[in-house]
Amino acid sequence: MGGKLIYESPDHRVYLFEELTPASAVQANQYLIVHRDEAMLLDPGGHKVQSKLFSDLCSLVQPKRIGHIFLSHQDPDVVASINYWLMTTPAKAYISELWIRFLPHFGLDSKMEGRVVPIGDRGMSITLGGDCDLHVIPAHFLHSPGNFHVYDPVSKILFSGDLGASLGQDYFFVEDFDSHIRFIEKFHKRYMASNRAMRVWAKAIRKLDVETIAPQHGAIFKGRHLVERFLDWAENLECGVDLISERDYTLP
Ligand code: FE
Repeated sequence: MGGKLIYESPDHRVYLFEELTPASAVQANQYLIVHRDEAMLLDPGGHKVQSKLFSDLCSLVQPKRIGHIFLSHQDPDVVASINYWLMTTPAKAYISELWIRFLPHFGLDSKMEGRVVPIGDRGMSITLGGDCDLHVIPAHFLHSPGNFHVYDPVSKILFSGDLGASLGQDYFFVEDFDSHIRFIEKFHKRYMASNRAMRVWAKAIRKLDVETIAPQHGAIFKGRHLVERFLDWAENLECGVDLISERDYTLP
């Protein structure tokens, strides 16, 4: 019985599904935002997760109420089940315009292609349940070249995809930032493209009222203090191309 409620108000709920991934695969979180009578599923994941996630969702919301599926970027742990979700719900799916033509390689049926909405580089907003505008925010190169986050102004949660991801920790919510760094540092140094992208992103995010950062893998940063600590850490991290030396390109 999955679906951990991480935000609740009379018209608005946010659920986390964190335990569906098989042991050999990288742990992945799926999120569901429900506003009034409509829901958005974020980064639904791969084939190993889809039917369990579907049955868990059915206990919370009718599948016909899932109007939107958000895909932060093109990775298999985000996108691989997309054809299944378009078959089992009436949802539109959203992904960077850079990746639209890659989806058929994940088995997206040509009949479904018309329900995939390309997100232009500047992002967009998606209205949920009639009056909740979810902001689709550019986060390019963190890590994918066509990459977006979702900011929910009701719950004040930023759904940050791979940014903020942790691997190997045994808790769902970060308590102490300093001791959490060892679970995030290696991943961010290798996967995130550059400090310049981190800094530009952090500057944009500081303009929003963020109470929680919810990544696609690992633990959630809940509370303004932890959000602030993560932004400070991210904008000061040398990563990706910042760390490249000639040694990294020596021939095997
Ligand atoms: Fe990824």
